[in-house]
Amino acid sequence: MEPTPPMEIDTSRPHPARMYDWYLGGKDNYPVDEAMGRQMLALDPRVPVMARVNRAFMQRATRWLAGQGIRQFLDVGTGIPTEPNLHQVAQTVAPDARVVYCDNDPIVLAHAAALLRGTDEGLTEYLQADVRDPDTILEGARKVLDFNQPVALSLIALLHFVSDEDGAHELVGRLLGALPSGSYLVLTHATADFKPEESKAATDKLKAAGVTLALRSREEFTRFFDGLELVDPGVQVPHLWHPELGDPVPGQDDETIPGYGAVARKP
Ligand code: SAH
Repeated sequence: MEPTPPMEIDTSRPHPARMYDWYLGGKDNYPVDEAMGRQMLALDPRVPVMARVNRAFMQRATRWLAGQGIRQFLDVGTGIPTEPNLHQVAQTVAPDARVVYCDNDPIVLAHAAALLRGTDEGLTEYLQADVRDPDTILEGARKVLDFNQPVALSLIALLHFVSDEDGAHELVGRLLGALPSGSYLVLTHATADFKPEESKAATDKLKAAGVTLALRSREEFTRFFDGLELVDPGVQVPHLWHPELGDPVPGQDDETIPGYGAVARKP
């Protein structure tokens, strides 16, 4: 059976979307999320900077894609709204851009209205679905997006919550397989390559709290782009991917952010 997203907010265990909101200084999180967030901070105090660096990557990548003429965006693992959201960045460049957001966490659904305030010319839609159920995502997205025209598929800071057993690489292949030539894949992903011990401790703590963290090596990350054409500068730490397209994040420095980001085109 395909995973069905829960409709009720579970405040008994931490959730990635709410922990991420806490890192970003948001208000849509619960004591369990803050407690686990603090444990992550104790392992690496740069976690909040990483979250901001990741958000900034999303904005630069979206700006770049809209600049390339992309007018359709499918963003899976959207997160709790944080301005500017992807549709705001895309529709600033191209007011007619169409954006479909998707997340499996009911707290994101509760905030969907904030994600839907797009331009009159464009279109913004939200669907609650799990990335492990790509057919539901594609079926929902098809109602808003024209799959005969290129689509930018973004899974930003999502795939490290999807295990190999759940077929992370195959799922991306399924989603991308439905999209035409000229579409793009946009990813960021956490890795244990830089700080193996802290990363293992973080993975263990999250696992004990019921959260899967599947950190992947540079090679495993790069494999998501098999058959695609990586856009310059290829696989990079996220803050070094086209830094000229946005403002630097305060606290960001050349010390490595333990994650990768890349954008690639489907030939
Ligand atoms: N993409 C956003 C948020 C990243 S946080 C950003 O980069 O700013 C990761 C998000 O993925 C959370 O909102 C979480 O709820 C969502 N997520 C985790 N597992 C998921 C799954 N199996 N299917 C869909 N969304 C998932």
